[in-house]
Amino acid sequence: MATPVSDRTSSGISPTNILLIEDNSADAKIVEILLEENDNINCRIDHQMTLGQGLEALGGETEYAAVLLDMNLPDSRGFETLTSVLEKFPDDNVILLTGTKDREIGFKAVELGAQDYLVKGDFDSEQLGKSLRFSIERKKAIKRLAQMQRLAQIGNWEFRPADKFFFASPEALRIIGSDGSLNLFEEIQQPSSPLYTIYKWYQSKENNVCSYSEEISFELEGVKRFVLIEGNCSKVDGRPNCQGIIHDITDKRVGEELRKVHELTQRSAKMKEQFVASISHEMRTPMNAILGMSNILSQMELEEEQKGLVNSIKQSSEILLGVVNDILEISTLQNGKIVFENTTFDIHELIDNLFNVMQYKLEEKDLLFERTLPEELSSFLIGDKLRLNQVLYNLVGNSIKFTDTGTVGLEIEVLEKTAKDINLKFSVTDTGIGIPEDKVETVFGSFTRVRTKDRIFEGTGLGLSIAKNIVEQLGGEIGASSVLGEGSTFSFTMRFGIGSADTQAAPPAERAYVIDTSRPIRLLLAEDHKMNQLVARKTLEKAFPNIDLTIVENGQLAVEALQANIYDMVLMDIQMPIMDGYEASAYVREHVEGPMKNVPILAMTAHAHISKDKQYLQYGMQDFVLKPFDPKQLFSKIAQYAQAL
Ligand code: ADP
Repeated sequence: MATPVSDRTSSGISPTNILLIEDNSADAKIVEILLEENDNINCRIDHQMTLGQGLEALGGETEYAAVLLDMNLPDSRGFETLTSVLEKFPDDNVILLTGTKDREIGFKAVELGAQDYLVKGDFDSEQLGKSLRFSIERKKAIKRLAQMQRLAQIGNWEFRPADKFFFASPEALRIIGSDGSLNLFEEIQQPSSPLYTIYKWYQSKENNVCSYSEEISFELEGVKRFVLIEGNCSKVDGRPNCQGIIHDITDKRVGEELRKVHELTQRSAKMKEQFVASISHEMRTPMNAILGMSNILSQMELEEEQKGLVNSIKQSSEILLGVVNDILEISTLQNGKIVFENTTFDIHELIDNLFNVMQYKLEEKDLLFERTLPEELSSFLIGDKLRLNQVLYNLVGNSIKFTDTGTVGLEIEVLEKTAKDINLKFSVTDTGIGIPEDKVETVFGSFTRVRTKDRIFEGTGLGLSIAKNIVEQLGGEIGASSVLGEGSTFSFTMRFGIGSADTQAAPPAERAYVIDTSRPIRLLLAEDHKMNQLVARKTLEKAFPNIDLTIVENGQLAVEALQANIYDMVLMDIQMPIMDGYEASAYVREHVEGPMKNVPILAMTAHAHISKDKQYLQYGMQDFVLKPFDPKQLFSKIAQYAQAL
């Protein structure tokens, strides 16, 4: 039954909905008439006769600004009528209509949660209007306060021990994870309650006027929550009255913890980077000696057995060098420090080369190699050819390694092609040993190797991790599927620009430097490591029989030698005691007089990143050779610079 009490809706302001639950039609009519008379309130009344119907209306779609509730209804009598409404709709704004003039009933009703009470037959239009307006405004203010509390994540509480009363605002209840159904006064006396701390504090203090602040943390539905509780106690009418706030600071604390974790991760990443760089340096230096000496040894006249042994040393050192390089590579990739190239290359040529290199291994194991390239695949692509090669070598290499019979396949599919670029999917398939289902995801992690009971496969477990890093940093995806005992497929996607034969860079011309042997090369070598001195001496003397080699142990001695003698060129180690290679070179360029001021100086280092950061140039050095040195590269560089004089 809906009665628009006033027609003021036409003014454009929508009327306030009020629910009247009253079984006496005459009383209901009076309320309607009184409200119609009142100019201060524009409302629309829904009239229901029983508590059941009233509750149904409250649960419906209409939102009521207030409920005028008769205490005695056919289906409920007394305070129970009020508590049934408030239990179901605690946020509703209820004004009680009482039939007697008993004030006590009114007080009790307000204590129980009613906004006001009106004695039937005793109120006029103005009183009714006022009570409704006040309660409606109050409800709005309470709603706004609740919203503000929700936003600020601050709730409030009030504790009156003598009255056995504890109140917590909806936000306070949310913070402690209560749905409001508990008797809070009893609840706070339970040590398991987050609010127990308030009770404990109240119990422990001697006089009742003091303030309190404590940060607590507890677990709510498996999530740790950090909460600040603050309060103040005083006496009102001689009875203790404590009030305070409860502030949810979980986000702040979690943020702080995340920041700390982030800082720690960054610091440890930095340390790891330094550690890896220095370990790889420390390992490369002795490797230089081992590789160099085995090179020299293998050229000597040796018995067959000795040759075999020397070759084993050489092979093992090369594998070890590969591992060191892989570790360095993964650390550079993980730090996101890699710079990708963008050049034009021929994809068909790249696949041909890959096949040529792998052919020996394929034949050795009697495996078939199948390639499937789509017709629409353009020949000239723009991208990082070396990185693509690296990923393909790794996947095809693994397939060959883990396959004893059958086929290794490489398929390229075009996922997307525009005039400018092309997205390709590369799949490498084999009929090998396969990977257990629960291990397939893990093989891309660093140092992951799937254990095989009966066989040991060579490898560090870094190849796939490097491949994954490269593919992902280039914006692609990599994944694997496998059936144990049947084979595996590794696929990745990579996007390229579309190039043409014109944009393909001409390969750098191979320059062969031929040494002029008519005069001795005067070479100054600064190197502190005794073994490396020996390797360099033996290697150089073998290649250049009439070399005039001077070896000094540190940068300072190198500077002194350059001040006293004439050399064709200098090989300068970077890390040396007393004066390092960088300092010595800078000193020579600045302070040495005469022709040696400009003598070619080549940095010798075990730090592989030198080729990328070219730091040696800043100190006036011309070039570098990497240790362990590849004799061919070393000789070519010596010929190039010695000739330049
Ligand atoms: P590794 O240098 O050890 O081969 P990878 O990172 O390339 O390192 O591979 C990690 C592990 O994943 C390998 O040790 C192997 O157990 C498994 N794996 C990789 N490719 C294959 C494959 N094609 N078939 C079976 N197992 C493979």
